[in-house]
Amino acid sequence: MAARLFRGSLRRWGCRCALPSRPAARYSHSGGEERLETPSAKKLTDIGTRRIFSSEHDIFRKSVRKFFQEEVIPYHAEWEKAGEVSRELWEKAGKQGLLGINIAERHGGVGGDLYSAAVVWEEQAYSNCTGPGFTLHSDIIMPYIVNYGSEEQIKRFIPQMTSGKCIGALAMTEPGAGSDLQGIRTNAKKDGNDWILNGSKVFISNGWLSDIVIVVALTNRETLSPAHGISLFLVENGMKGFIKGKKLQKMGQKAQDTAELFFEDVRLPASALIGEENKGFYYLMKELPKERLVIADLAVSACEFMFEETRTYVKERKIFGKTVAQMQTVQHKLAELKTQICVTRAFVDSCLQLHEKKRLDSASASMAKYWASELQNRVAYDCVQLHGGWGYMWEYPIAKAYVDARVQTIYGGTNEIMKELIAREIIHDK
Ligand SMILES: Cc1cc2nc3c(=O)[nH]c(=O)nc-3n(C[C@H](O)[C@H](O)[C@H](O)COP(=O)(O)OP(=O)(O)OC[C@H]3O[C@@H](n4cnc5c(N)ncnc54)[C@H](O)[C@@H]3O)c2cc1C
Repeated sequence: MAARLFRGSLRRWGCRCALPSRPAARYSHSGGEERLETPSAKKLTDIGTRRIFSSEHDIFRKSVRKFFQEEVIPYHAEWEKAGEVSRELWEKAGKQGLLGINIAERHGGVGGDLYSAAVVWEEQAYSNCTGPGFTLHSDIIMPYIVNYGSEEQIKRFIPQMTSGKCIGALAMTEPGAGSDLQGIRTNAKKDGNDWILNGSKVFISNGWLSDIVIVVALTNRETLSPAHGISLFLVENGMKGFIKGKKLQKMGQKAQDTAELFFEDVRLPASALIGEENKGFYYLMKELPKERLVIADLAVSACEFMFEETRTYVKERKIFGKTVAQMQTVQHKLAELKTQICVTRAFVDSCLQLHEKKRLDSASASMAKYWASELQNRVAYDCVQLHGGWGYMWEYPIAKAYVDARVQTIYGGTNEIMKELIAREIIHDK
């Protein structure tokens, strides 16, 4: 079955390659012991490395790399000015089979494995373009609909989301409640079979372009803990009373449309509720480890990109009659960076494997997110330093990578919250 699904995906990606005769073992991952891990590869971004992938993933990776090189990188500066990417890009990504990869074909997704989805996250990080919110859409939002939504919701939204015609966002954070999700005020009250939604959300990625937003709202204030009174709703663009505020001006990730959203007496049909009433917090807790894993993989991939950019730069830049790379202190710095990146990569790859087997626990995902996003910021700092003044110039990719890195320790749960989750597990009596 897995083989058939993946074969379908390869066709979708336009790969006319011969499919191997040993399907299941290859597709489930484990491309083979002969594959190099990143420390031994020529470059940390090389195609054909890492045991979690197979040669089919490599073929796919080539096509994804080409997509980012041809369809994203040339236009990204323009999108940074606009504060959003084009809708056309989303549809191109849909046509290429880059959205909803890890969503089963029977639900309207591509039907690829988690590793194929990770290829898209990683290639986007290697492109140094944070504008398109594909990962959030495909690997964070679509799973809520597939895992907890009704047949009707799945049929209505998933194929459209896979095609890039319907863009998704997830709205948890409010001006007064971020880390403390239980402090949200956005609420939905029953009115006959309908719900009336009121409140506001802030910092919502894909918020401006969104066609559907999963909104986290209070539905029961009477419970002992607010966690037992939270529900998730699918709110559609154009619904009366759903207002998109301004696109927010950010320090980095400038082409990513992060917005405020307002809900003023929005009438939602009963069919807008995702899963069961008052179970929203439970669904969030189930899905948030995946979000943290995605951030961790994006972070270590960004480190790999920055390392290779810097390696190239210091080998070319000449000062005092020799290249920057010929100085021993620089060599030691590169050795430190490579070691830290490769050690982190090994841990994140093992988390990817665990998640593929549905065995990744919350504390491990939190460790990966906390560690990889902090490393990303340290690597960004050091790589800018190794570029000297040019590293501070916007025309150099490392400058963008530096500002884009900053938010990684903040969203998806701040790293302080990650430590809370890790610590809770440490002191918990088993
Ligand atoms: C660019 C961007 C995109 C985002 N995208 C989305 C999105 O798509 N959807 C969405 O819902 N949200 C999104 N967010 C919101 C993000 O998840 C929150 O900003 C984050 O969870 C922190 O919440 P806060 O900003 O309210 O900070 P606060 O919760 O006010 O935290 C302030 C400080 O207090 C610390 N702190 C809080 N609690 C503790 C504790 N118990 N112990 C120790 N320290 C603590 C925090 O770590 C932080 O340093 C986005 C944010 C940004 C900047």
